Amino acid sequence: MDVYLDNGATTRVDPRVVEAMKQYFLENYGNASSLHTIGSNARAALDDARARFAKLINAIENEIVFTSGGTESDNLAIKGFARANKLKGNQIIISPLEHKAILKSCETLKKEGFEITKLEVDDEGFVDPANLESLITDKTILVSIIHGNNVIGTIQDLEAIGRVCKKHRVAFHTDAVQSLVKVSIDVEKQKVDLMSFSSHKIHGPKGVGALFVRDGIKLAKLQDGGPQERNFRAGTENVPGIVGFVTAAELITQDELEKMKANRDHLIDRILTEIPDTKLNGAREKRLVNNVNIAFKYIEGESILTMLDAEGIAVSTGSACSAKDLKPNHVLLAIGMPPELCHGSIRMTLSKWTTKEEIDYTVDKLKEIVSRLRVMSPLGGE
Ligand SMILES: *Cc1c(COP(=O)(O)O)cnc(C)c1O
Repeated sequence: MDVYLDNGATTRVDPRVVEAMKQYFLENYGNASSLHTIGSNARAALDDARARFAKLINAIENEIVFTSGGTESDNLAIKGFARANKLKGNQIIISPLEHKAILKSCETLKKEGFEITKLEVDDEGFVDPANLESLITDKTILVSIIHGNNVIGTIQDLEAIGRVCKKHRVAFHTDAVQSLVKVSIDVEKQKVDLMSFSSHKIHGPKGVGALFVRDGIKLAKLQDGGPQERNFRAGTENVPGIVGFVTAAELITQDELEKMKANRDHLIDRILTEIPDTKLNGAREKRLVNNVNIAFKYIEGESILTMLDAEGIAVSTGSACSAKDLKPNHVLLAIGMPPELCHGSIRMTLSKWTTKEEIDYTVDKLKEIVSRLRVMSPLGGE
């Protein structure tokens, strides 16, 4: 049985998405900026996709900027905002749980004279809005806190954080790449000014995403070129990708979300009760419906991953971006886990197609693998 439990890294494209994209490769392949009919057809599809996406997140059409994905959206939000607003102040506040796209953007800004302040989080990864408020100064221009965490699944209370930002007239960005379609998104209610999204995490094609930019927010552009995307993002629009992305975002159903949640809970419960010396990383309740992250004491996550792979089961250690380096995952360290437990952690991320049979097969294999590894472990244990 092949079981794909790495949907936090990327997902299989939904066949209905491929179908919706097809005509923009093969028939209406014009440049959306061209004036002829085939170009206007592409423009109409782009406008339509923008309106549909805006509606999904309770924004207005001209607040949506399509990009090449979550990484570009994060870069544009953070560097674009900081550079365009540097006369107002130079302090940016982020959480320690951010994706590399945010962390690295902040490192770049630091070299440009910005001051980056990192919040503390509790052992489930939650930010305390009162702690955020205490760190805001008259130099603070931007707060960026991830919505649904890609490593531990913890979902932040955007509304509470947004309220603090609004009170102090500080812009609020959130990376909603993992939460889109899994948690309800409403840019008004959640009081965000900038919000990042990506298509390939929600069964859309790779290389496309969006940034919500609240009306009136100024951003410095990252690349020079044409006036596309209201001058926020130069480059010929990826019409098939954008159509695919928005179609994917509309497809998810309440039943699918409930099924994912039930499967997630079944996976967590079976592991915690049937495999000794295991711990769930991240929050139990306010958690992405598809995320399971477990620490297995005395053994290495890498070894579990390799042995599961041999059984046809794909999982991840931490997040895809740090899968190749040996440093403990920064998110796990930030929630106070000792380095050896970080190394013994694996992430399993479900999709709307994951079945209970696949979950049971995975737990059965995990039980065998973990006890085999523990017998060989120099770290002790059974
Ligand atoms: C995957 C991911 C990104 C990057 O998105 P890409 O479209 O792959 O560039 C950013 N943030 C989070 C939380 C992610 O999970």
